[in-house]
Amino acid sequence: MQRTLVIDSLEKVGQTVRLCGWVDSKRDHGKVTFIDLRDRTGKIQAVGIGGKLSELSNESVVEITGPINTRGEKMVNPNLPTGSIEIFVEDYKVLNKAAELPILVEGDGRDVNEEMRLKYRYLDLRRERMQKIVRLRSKFYQALREQLEKKDFTEVETPMLTKSTKEGARDFIVPSRFNPGKFYALPQSPQQYKQLLMTAGVENYYQFARCIRDEDLRADRGFEFTQLDLEMSFVTQQEVMDNVEEIVKNAVKKVGAKLKDEVFPVIPYKEAIEKYGADKFDLRSEEEKKENVLAFAWVVSFPFFKKVDKKDIAEVRDGKSGWTFTHNPFSSPIPESMEDHKNAENIENIITAQYDLVCNGYEAGGGSIRAHDPEVLKKTFEIMGYSDQEIEASVGHMLEAFKLGTPPHGGIALGLDRLVMLLAGENSLKETIAFPMSSSGKTSIMDAPSEVSDEQLKELGILIAPNLATMKK
Ligand code: ASP
Repeated sequence: MQRTLVIDSLEKVGQTVRLCGWVDSKRDHGKVTFIDLRDRTGKIQAVGIGGKLSELSNESVVEITGPINTRGEKMVNPNLPTGSIEIFVEDYKVLNKAAELPILVEGDGRDVNEEMRLKYRYLDLRRERMQKIVRLRSKFYQALREQLEKKDFTEVETPMLTKSTKEGARDFIVPSRFNPGKFYALPQSPQQYKQLLMTAGVENYYQFARCIRDEDLRADRGFEFTQLDLEMSFVTQQEVMDNVEEIVKNAVKKVGAKLKDEVFPVIPYKEAIEKYGADKFDLRSEEEKKENVLAFAWVVSFPFFKKVDKKDIAEVRDGKSGWTFTHNPFSSPIPESMEDHKNAENIENIITAQYDLVCNGYEAGGGSIRAHDPEVLKKTFEIMGYSDQEIEASVGHMLEAFKLGTPPHGGIALGLDRLVMLLAGENSLKETIAFPMSSSGKTSIMDAPSEVSDEQLKELGILIAPNLATMKK
């Protein structure tokens, strides 16, 4: 007999069906045992008599066969979509018996210790709140894809083992077995590859891109995140912003979000700082906050460069002259700043063609029109104090491509973990990621980072320094 989904039982009254799922809860009344059987579509009451079901433990996986009956009027449960029916157990099979559970699956899980939630994430994900988020994320991706396909974007995957891309964070590096002593970097973003796809004539590119940055951990942030990364050729800043606004607007509405503004306000960086004290801000009223309305806005006209923060190793490395980029070294200055940029004058006043998308107080995305003229890109690195040799070593491949027919282009990356968090009305990114990292950088369930064998180290030509702790100082 084919499996019937719990929700479809509503149309099967009087028929015998086979249901599969988990024991959500059990109520033993001696002669009769009730369980709520749960599958991905909901719960249904199952009625076992003569000892049937009584051995079952919570969260065991079972298969039940029997007729779907309507419940007596007084027995209807108005809180359950299937509250007017039940399955009468003729036969059942335990497919997987659950031992005593280390964490509770019922409830929203907010009172469960984080370490335990992550260690047993597969149990934690069973709870209704988490199931909803996992599915919301998938639906949102689908809605975004639909918009992108409509606008003739092409999805392209870019490498995970690559060379350092500057996004202002430390790289995660991976040793190469074939080239002992050499390393790949995991991508901080697909920035350079997506620009090279413009050289390649793709014109409209997108990717649901995994990005990996070795940043200092905060309670809410791991080393990996997902971006909707996109890039377009032959476009102005306004055109990219218009396209992104339409894609985001339609996709969030498709998954049920309410918007504060149909047309996103555009606020220059300086004004944002004066008005809100930050370049991300929350435009919602108290009432709108309660209703989980999404208030998007653009921030534009950022300074291109800033003084290096001496405490930030990645910045010190990038800004050898004492200047480093604020957002993205591959951006173009706005046309009005081009002269100063070319002459490396008034550096603090050079404005980048960068645009950030903010939502409810968070940065939801950021992008720019890029420097596709090799001289402009080279100048950016000169301003940061790179020698010709250093420029060649870090972005020589980009400069070369920009001499071989690269169209003007620009794009953006949207933070998907953050957007899903806002859509779900949650306040931690971890709630939106199926298997997030703990606050101390440990992976869910599996205990990484962990040691590797001596053979693996030998193959890679790596010796672990005996005095690691003192080396770090
Ligand atoms: N690569 C940038 C980032 O990850 C986004 C962009 O400029 O497209 O923040």
